[in-house]
Amino acid sequence: MISSRASRPCCRARAARSFSTGNKRFSGFTHQGRCRVMPALMLINGQNAIFWHADTMNDNTLQTFPLSPLHVAVVGAGISGLSVAWFMAGQGMTVRVFESGERVGGKIRTLGQNGALFEAGPNTLMAGDAHLAWLAELGLQVEYPSAQSRHRFVLSQGRYRRLPGGPGALLFGDFFSMGAKWRMLSEPFRRNRPATRPETVAGFFRRRLGDEVLAKAVNPFVGGVFAGDPEQLLIDETLGVLAEVERTAGSISGGMLRKALKGGMQRRNTYSLSGGLESLPRALARTLDVRLSCPVTALRPSGAHWQVEAGGQSHLAEQVVLALPAFGAARLLEEIDAEAAAAFAAIRYAPMTVVVTRLRCTQVMRPLEGFGGLNPAAEGAFAAGHLMTGALYPGRCAEGEMLITSFVGGAQYAAHAALADEELLARLNRELADLFGVEGEACGQVVVRWPEAIAQGSVEVLAARVAAKRLAARGIHVCASFLDGVSVPDCMDKGKKLALQLAGASPSLP
Ligand SMILES: Cc1cc2nc3c(=O)[nH]c(=O)nc-3n(C[C@H](O)[C@H](O)[C@H](O)COP(=O)(O)OP(=O)(O)OC[C@H]3O[C@@H](n4cnc5c(N)ncnc54)[C@H](O)[C@@H]3O)c2cc1C
Repeated sequence: MISSRASRPCCRARAARSFSTGNKRFSGFTHQGRCRVMPALMLINGQNAIFWHADTMNDNTLQTFPLSPLHVAVVGAGISGLSVAWFMAGQGMTVRVFESGERVGGKIRTLGQNGALFEAGPNTLMAGDAHLAWLAELGLQVEYPSAQSRHRFVLSQGRYRRLPGGPGALLFGDFFSMGAKWRMLSEPFRRNRPATRPETVAGFFRRRLGDEVLAKAVNPFVGGVFAGDPEQLLIDETLGVLAEVERTAGSISGGMLRKALKGGMQRRNTYSLSGGLESLPRALARTLDVRLSCPVTALRPSGAHWQVEAGGQSHLAEQVVLALPAFGAARLLEEIDAEAAAAFAAIRYAPMTVVVTRLRCTQVMRPLEGFGGLNPAAEGAFAAGHLMTGALYPGRCAEGEMLITSFVGGAQYAAHAALADEELLARLNRELADLFGVEGEACGQVVVRWPEAIAQGSVEVLAARVAAKRLAARGIHVCASFLDGVSVPDCMDKGKKLALQLAGASPSLP
């Protein structure tokens, strides 16, 4: 293991340090930012070279330094960091993951209470075939939601109404007005007004489908999936596939149809995992070198390498992957690239307070027969939405009980997320009584706060992407939810892509 000791007063510049990478270590000290070795006695112990260097230290402590640097140091053991590390390790690279917290998974967190199992962060994965194959390789068992989960509801004039599930229901149902239906039907034939760039999600849908579709369908969807405000999020950063099909085919519906006919639409379904979603990061971490409770506090250039300061010790790596939130990455970059640090610090995060309510089934007079309900901002609700979690994955709550997971917050409800527990629960419980007819006191309620829950794909991302490209040329790579997709499968995909890229580019791999 690594240690950092105070040097004697006359050699303050020679702060004695140890460096370690892979399984091989050597010892020495740093002087004017350069790593030097000054052994008085050298012991070879298996793969370790251990040096005793009394003239640099006042306590004759043995220290160990790595004989060869790590290929990659990964900062953050959320799904992004673990995915990239898992793939790199599979390519024969030496990888170490540093995590400031006591557990792996970051935002992915599964909790239990009185026989109930529930998620405090993401609840479902929208996974395609490649993800399913990866989960199977990790030995994870996929759990399919009950059949009722295909019904989605949206709050409209104070009550939940089923979102039309297909073209028939869309045209003949009464969810949308005649005017909105006409806008949708005529969308393929509408001439393409040039978009202002960069264009927001709201601007895009207003242009293509009109205000009603934006308010009734897009607004709650964007609030539910991205915890975002469509007036702020950029279409290219959040629903880029729609912007792309419009650019190439001239319309959303025409472009999507063409893409589907060409087989270019990857089918994705909604899943969870047996034991909850946290079993995914745990499975990824099982075979990796992960250092928990080991925050990275500084990155320093050291010749052709990076010196990673973590948990009071130094580690040398050829490349570094930043897999932590943007504001944390910004702090590590201040000394290295102040412009990149400022660009990352500007990325916005929406807060989210998740409340899981345990109820007896007999207390709920009007449960939703579906996945859950989303609340458009115009409805003035308290929560951004509620999931009928207990009904989605049977066996996750005790006999005769049910679970409702409420999402209080997101960019459009940010003030609600910050309320103190007492007021937050009082207002939430009033909403649960109004919407679902909940009677009496809950059997239990768990409140989990994410003050910086979900990175927002708003205009600030553009400068951050330019900065990330510049950093990559210096061996610091971003693989995190604040660039190119926030969902768990997006983070897994980005990890795999970067791992293959770094494995291909690593000069020290055989
Ligand atoms: C309430 C909520 C609901 C969500 N719902 C869904 C959903 O249903 N489906 C879906 O696909 N996605 C969902 N998401 C989004 C998704 O969970 C996240 O975007 C994703 O998990 C982020 O992963 P990450 O690894 O990039 O970041 P994180 O999970 O934030 O991990 C970053 C890690 O870095 C560590 N770290 C920070 N600073 C340091 C440091 N200096 N040194 C070392 N380590 C450090 C942190 O402790 C953390 O473990 C949801 C998110 C939230 C909050």
